[in-house]
Amino acid sequence: ETPPGYRALDESSLPGYLAGIDAVIARLGGGPADWQVREVGDGNLNLVFIVTGPAGGVAVKQALPYVRLVGESWPLPLSRAFFEHEALTAQRAAAPAQTPGLFHYDHGMALTVMELLRPHVIMRKGLAAGVRYPRFAGDIACFMAHTLFGTSDLALPAAEKKRRMAVFCGNTALCRITEDLIFTDPYRVAELNRWTSPQLDGIAAEFRADTAAKAAVSELKGKFLTCAEAMIHGDLHTGSIMVTESDTRVIDPEFAFYGPMGFDVGAVIGNLLLAFFAQAGHETDSDRRDGYRTWILDQVREVWTRFEATFLELWRKHPTGDLYPAGLFADAAGQAELERIRAAYMARLFSDSVGFAAAKMIRRILGLAHVEELETIADPDLRAACETGALRLARDMLVNRGSYPTIGDVTAAAPEFL
Ligand code: ADP
Ligand code: MG
Ligand code: MG
Ligand code: MG
Repeated sequence: ETPPGYRALDESSLPGYLAGIDAVIARLGGGPADWQVREVGDGNLNLVFIVTGPAGGVAVKQALPYVRLVGESWPLPLSRAFFEHEALTAQRAAAPAQTPGLFHYDHGMALTVMELLRPHVIMRKGLAAGVRYPRFAGDIACFMAHTLFGTSDLALPAAEKKRRMAVFCGNTALCRITEDLIFTDPYRVAELNRWTSPQLDGIAAEFRADTAAKAAVSELKGKFLTCAEAMIHGDLHTGSIMVTESDTRVIDPEFAFYGPMGFDVGAVIGNLLLAFFAQAGHETDSDRRDGYRTWILDQVREVWTRFEATFLELWRKHPTGDLYPAGLFADAAGQAELERIRAAYMARLFSDSVGFAAAKMIRRILGLAHVEELETIADPDLRAACETGALRLARDMLVNRGSYPTIGDVTAAAPEFL
């Protein structure tokens, strides 16, 4: 239910609202009459305004009591703004270089004022345009390693971790969206499903009849429901990453809760693979994308490799949590065993990531929410060809996860499905 103080802002009412916030006035300079406001929300759920003044700019994100993409017929709690702000705060502490700065949070208005990222672009758009981002792999690996390790039982005392978990237990409405749209709907007849039709009608029917795929995705759903490993971003696709060639920032963690780490890692890998398969829809005679396809696969490998290295470095240097306490493994035999434990932990996390990557690829082609780099391919036959390759790879990753023990197995397989 909408709290009494809440009102959805628009371009004309926002300056008056912001004029009461000292931190915003300091950032923007001047007064409301000097500020330019533009609503830029291109996401599925919320309002986002960019406000600029003589001294600088801010971005203002406000939740609506319903799903923006669908309208008032699909209510969604304003509390998602609270969970997003809680997650941003934790991410800013764990990975300050990859998280926007925060200026103001208004619980009643379901609103956060944050650093304006400019000249950043949404990474998904850059991937469709064939732009290379040299810092991306290292930066996103750093973000994931610090936010995931730092909120896990490897880093936090058990009571502190449980205190933080409790904060996010209420984010059930957004978790429910994931449970339905990612882990269930693409494998059954569901009103919200859509795909490139009639080209993909046959393959969509194959997924609805694919018992092995349903079993595999349900096992992943079980992890999503039960495995409170770390505070995950929960929606870490390339539309939640803003980049320049020298900076990488993660936005939009409203789906955050304590869940399986592989859900975030898999989101990044799966969305890079979608961009890989979309390239045929964007290349022209004067802009071939063979080299760019190779670059994307290089990033898939680098993201995992650097994530694993950074995560392990944190684990070796800062094992401050209650899981695998150092005192238990102090002697030489213990140290050797702990290294084996670490290797097995990373192998299991990689396997989870492969599965979640696959589930995310499939839902973006057969489910409700699609991705821009595929949607903007105007020729439906060409789009369907790109989507079919992605679906075939994803189905194999989902059902035959054991055939992908290393990231090199993923990057070697992808071109075979083009
Ligand atoms: P939603 O939850 O509705 O998907 P997002 O947080 O993803 O909303 O924001 C929607 C869009 O607003 C982004 O794709 C981006 O273009 C823009 N945006 C969001 N935050 C910022 C920011 N801090 N700086 C600049 N632009 C932003
Ligand atoms: Mg978004
Ligand atoms: Mg940086
Ligand atoms: Mg969002």
